Amino acid sequence: MHFHIITLFPEICQAYTDASILGRAQKSEKGKGAKVKGKKISVSYYNPREFSKDKNKKVDERPYGGGPGMVMQAEPVLKAWEKAVGRKKDQSKVKTLIMSPRGRVFTQDVAKEYAQKYEHLVLISGRYEGIDYRVNEILGAEEVSVGEYVLTGGELPALTIVDATARQIPGVLGTFESLEEERVTSGKSYTRPEVLKYKKQEYRVPEVLLKGNHAEIEKWRGDK
Ligand code: SAH
Repeated sequence: MHFHIITLFPEICQAYTDASILGRAQKSEKGKGAKVKGKKISVSYYNPREFSKDKNKKVDERPYGGGPGMVMQAEPVLKAWEKAVGRKKDQSKVKTLIMSPRGRVFTQDVAKEYAQKYEHLVLISGRYEGIDYRVNEILGAEEVSVGEYVLTGGELPALTIVDATARQIPGVLGTFESLEEERVTSGKSYTRPEVLKYKKQEYRVPEVLLKGNHAEIEKWRGDK
C-alpha cells in the first residue's frame, strides 16, 4: 500500500510515520516472524506550498460569501494530488480522502476496507477553515472524520488513518503482534516488577498470571 499525504506540515507527520512499526514496514527487512518479505508500505509527502504560483508561496485566501478565517486554495492541492497519483493508469486502485470533521467516521472496519480495496491512499489534510470545496468535486474524494471534535488541521486524522490502515496490511505486524491484535484480550497487561511499590502501597500482579497455567490465563483474560 502506498500512502500519499498532502499537507502543509509534512515534517510534523514524518517523525511519526518513520518510527516503530510504520518505520519498519517501509524498509525491506522482514518484520519479527513476518511471512511477507520486502517493503509493505510506502509513505510520501506533498506540500501544496510547493505548487503555489504566488511569489510568497501563499496557499490560502479569504472565503467567498464572507465569514471568518481563510480557505486553502484548490489549485495547489490539485497539483499535489496530480504529482502523487495523477499518472496512475488504474484509478480504481486509488482512493482519495479529504480530512473533515463532517465526514464519514473512520473505524477499524473502514481501515480494513481501505487495506483490502486500494493500492494508493491519498490523504488530504486541511488547515484554516478547510479546503475549497471544488477539490472534493473534481477528485470525487471521500470526506473522512476521525471523531466528533474539531482539530486544528488534518494531520492527526491523516496519521490516524495511515496507522490503523497499515496495521491491516499483511506483514506490517509480525505474527506475534497480529495474534495479540486478533485475540480478545482483557486489555489489562502487566510487566515487572511483580510487586510495585508506589506511595507506600503495594500493587500486585494478579496471581493467575504468575502460575503459568495457560488455560486458566486464557479464561481470566476472556472473563475480563
Ligand atoms: N470550521 C472548519 C474547521 C476546520 S478545522 C470546519 O468546520 O470544517 C481544519 C482542518 O482540520 C479541516 O479542514 C480538516 O482537514 C481537519 N480536521 C479537523 N477536525 C477533524 C476531524 N475530526 N476529522 C478529520 N479532520 C479534521
